[in-house]
Amino acid sequence: METLKIIIAGPCAAESQEQLFATAEALSNLNTEFMKTSKFDFHFFRAGIWKPRTSPDDFQGVGIDAFEWLKLVKEKFGFSICVEIASTEHARLCIENGIDAVWIGARTTVNPFLVQEIADTVQHSSLTILVKNPINPDLQLWLGAIHRFQNAGIKKIMAIHRGFSIENENVFRNAPCWEIPIALRMKMPETPILCDISHIAGNVSLQQLVAQTAINYGFSGLMAEVHYAPEKALSDSKQQLLPSQFSHLLQTISFLSENNSTDDALFILRNLIKGIDSQIGKLLSKRMEAVDEIATIKALHAIPLLQPQQWKKVVAVYEENALKDENYYQFLEEFLLLLHKASLKRQASCS
Ligand code: PEP
Ligand code: MN
Repeated sequence: METLKIIIAGPCAAESQEQLFATAEALSNLNTEFMKTSKFDFHFFRAGIWKPRTSPDDFQGVGIDAFEWLKLVKEKFGFSICVEIASTEHARLCIENGIDAVWIGARTTVNPFLVQEIADTVQHSSLTILVKNPINPDLQLWLGAIHRFQNAGIKKIMAIHRGFSIENENVFRNAPCWEIPIALRMKMPETPILCDISHIAGNVSLQQLVAQTAINYGFSGLMAEVHYAPEKALSDSKQQLLPSQFSHLLQTISFLSENNSTDDALFILRNLIKGIDSQIGKLLSKRMEAVDEIATIKALHAIPLLQPQQWKKVVAVYEENALKDENYYQFLEEFLLLLHKASLKRQASCS
């Protein structure tokens, strides 16, 4: 059976019992009407109770008062509950109050000391831990945080891609840098990865595009901020979706392998690529062996390792066979740089 895509939705922050109930009720209607026949599965109702805000003058979250409200949301609507934690005290309180899942926010993932302390506090608990990417585009820091929870014996861990803070990003609130979550998937194929479309987009209009891109890349699901009345929200009001907008977004997502002919075409193309990759792999190894032989001859006749004229000839061969598009030229440039570096390194170690 096909695995369903995981959905986590709810307001940026818990503001009042009324706000949580109104939002949860709208989401639970969506749950019964549409979700049952869709490819999505509603996993957690989210609501931040401690909010990591840039300014101390902004709304900081309601704190522990929200536990009672969230317990009632769980009882009345049957949702499992997910909140953000950023300290060992938060972790302890969440375990005590029967919270089902916690997310480690972007500002916490950057701090290995803190992540380790939190991992020690939650160790062997039944909490599901969601690890958001760090604020900065650093794959290793993200992987490291996930490893700390794995080492603490946590069984249910998911990664959440919420975009990165980089210079010169003027479309998204947080740059998606898709290559980073993709690299994480390659390194940890067993760990589900969800896309937080709200914090990447930063507004309502871009979220459809972000969600569709994540699904196209094979992400395991989506996290979204949904509020019954976003204009009244005390935090992130510009990016929170109305329940009806969220429902529309989910219904308009298309799945790439919806029909068999797509599956067949994919199968054929993947096999073709497998054959090509096997040839490239063998040829690259052969090339390196030839480089080693050249190195021996150069060493024998005291010929310098670096010969720019010869390298130009190599580049010309690749250019002759290149696709005529800008992206390919860029790739080729980076690839040749790497190839040259590797060849020189081999020659240096042979001579
Ligand atoms: C949030 O999900 O509300 C939040 C503050 O997350 P992030 O750590 O991605 O900024
Ligand atoms: Mn938010």
